[in-house]
Amino acid sequence: MKRTDALLDYFWWPALMLTACSAMALGMAHDRGPLTFNLTYLALTAVLFVLEKIRPHETAWQESDGQELPDLAHTLFTKIAVQVAVIAITQFGVAQQFGGHTGGRLWPSTWPVVAQVGFGLLIAEFGLYWAHRLAHEWLPLWRFHAVHHSSEKLWFFNTGRFHFVDTLKSMLFAIPVLVLAGAPGNVITWVSALTAFFGILTHCNIRMRFGWLNYLFNTPGLHRWHHSMDLREGNKNYGENLVLWDLLFGTYFDDSRRRPPARIGIREAMPKTFLGQIWAPFDWENYQASSASPATRPDQSATTASDNTPRPVR
Ligand SMILES: [Zn+2]
Repeated sequence: MKRTDALLDYFWWPALMLTACSAMALGMAHDRGPLTFNLTYLALTAVLFVLEKIRPHETAWQESDGQELPDLAHTLFTKIAVQVAVIAITQFGVAQQFGGHTGGRLWPSTWPVVAQVGFGLLIAEFGLYWAHRLAHEWLPLWRFHAVHHSSEKLWFFNTGRFHFVDTLKSMLFAIPVLVLAGAPGNVITWVSALTAFFGILTHCNIRMRFGWLNYLFNTPGLHRWHHSMDLREGNKNYGENLVLWDLLFGTYFDDSRRRPPARIGIREAMPKTFLGQIWAPFDWENYQASSASPATRPDQSATTASDNTPRPVR
């Protein structure tokens, strides 16, 4: 029984990712990319909801944090914005219009679609990596990204808890690079879908193990460190999908000897309401001054080891 359970730990992440990708491939083959994406994403949320109930990674994260409404509002707001942008770019000829003038002739269009998507993911990931890293290391951008990190638990439901400015910034770093490189619409759709699948899986509160996959992909195991309040762990693992750029630029972090911290969040104050969270980054200094615990995240000296006590892996 124990052995089966251990095998299941390794099974779930690749199984869910492969199933989502297979569904997406089927939809793309029938020219139903956006519809298939939405149906697959919804099905994935249902499966994650059940798995979080029956095999949680942190039982403490099963308690409500009272942020369900803001989480849902941020998710709807940003998901709609991203999809409108991706559909506009891929369905109305924007990709061909711009890409044809620049990288269109250089794009490896004779490669199999899988290889083109892999190549597209690598290019987009470079932009996503720097968008994310800057958001942690440059205070004006951190103010927006702090909304995401203010979550005190990780679960599938708060995957989309991003300030819309933070989301727009990430899109600006990733999509134009793809378009200018000459990536066709189907590759952009694939990269967007994969980023969403990776995103919801990295935030889920499900007991899983990853082995060597941790050296290729951004897994929940790696991303839980990224939400640590200890900045020696939290300002690491910036990759959204792949960890290549983290490995190359020295921001990869994993420690198999202990569990990532269960107590996560930010040191700064964050309003509890959706509108408050939308407004706070624009009035950051005043808001922090009027709150109990002002602090500046990008300051590397502001580390805390309080949550760094080793805990057994299981
Ligand atoms: Zn982050």
